[in-house]
Amino acid sequence: MTTPTSVTLPTFSDVESAARQIAGVAHRTPVAASRSVNTRTGADVFFKCENLQRAGAFKFRGAYNALSRLTADERRRGVVTFSSGNHAQAIALAGQILGVPRVVVMPSDAPAVKQIATEGYGGEIVLYDRDREVREAIGARLAEERGLTLIPPYDHPQIIAGQGTAARELIEEVGAIDFLFVPCGGGGLLSGSAIAAQAMAPGCKVIGVEPAAADDATRSFRTKQLHTVQNPKTVADGARTPSLGSLTFPLVLQYVSDMATVDDPTLLRTMFYLWERLKLVVEPTGALGAAAALAGTTPIRGARVGVVLSGGNVDLLQVSEWLAFR
Ligand SMILES: *Cc1c(COP(=O)(O)O)cnc(C)c1O
Repeated sequence: MTTPTSVTLPTFSDVESAARQIAGVAHRTPVAASRSVNTRTGADVFFKCENLQRAGAFKFRGAYNALSRLTADERRRGVVTFSSGNHAQAIALAGQILGVPRVVVMPSDAPAVKQIATEGYGGEIVLYDRDREVREAIGARLAEERGLTLIPPYDHPQIIAGQGTAARELIEEVGAIDFLFVPCGGGGLLSGSAIAAQAMAPGCKVIGVEPAAADDATRSFRTKQLHTVQNPKTVADGARTPSLGSLTFPLVLQYVSDMATVDDPTLLRTMFYLWERLKLVVEPTGALGAAAALAGTTPIRGARVGVVLSGGNVDLLQVSEWLAFR
């Protein structure tokens, strides 16, 4: 896979620029620590609480960064995006703040809580059937027909730079870290986090974490060939993306130290542990990094460890299902 020459890969100066752009609009989320986690791992673990970000996930960072840079004409015409949920909500909220009309293409089986939240922020929803239609094509068609700007969920320089601001804040607050565990779907959060970590804590090993059933990025990382996965079955709905993108794939190869995978039962056990012990409501995808850090497969004993808790949008109706599954 080659990178389009017209688009340059984002750098740390883009992350810093994004941090200025979102300052005072995005929350500077808290960093949590837990004695029981530290005892269990033998490490100093710092959780960056993006479950407490506006619209419930780090995605507001990239969305606001991208929308706030549109020209006056682009703002007036509006934007279109596709997402399993959190990017949709983030675009819907950022558009509401900035007065930009927004259309969100969403799978018909997206959690109800995410559809309702997107509508609540005033986004127009267009539903599609995951098994029969291609969301990129629907997004492109709407962009063409209505003159909307397409804002994809991860493969976009300003989205990646915006997502990197969470790791930037974490390292700014706690100082140098030895490891940083980051959930990975399309790799926007992972790429941005790795750019920030490499610049601010050069020895830091950045580990991307995927659901075991959707391990395309892990395989792409190991083989240096882009792998894809179609509609994987996992409770981590934010990481069901088919593959890394044309920007995030080279960035992951360049900046990420390793990839890890977590199976769904382990992920759910970790999620409930975070709810019970840290009193932090994290969604399954949001617990990927924590699950890998707690799994004991990466040698973190004695180290200073950052973990991005990427989101907290949980549909409470799903909890009984998850309890049975775990
Ligand atoms: C979107 C999302 C991810 C994955 O982010 P990518 O940039 O697609 O890798 C992880 N966690 C949550 C909660 C998300 O919403």
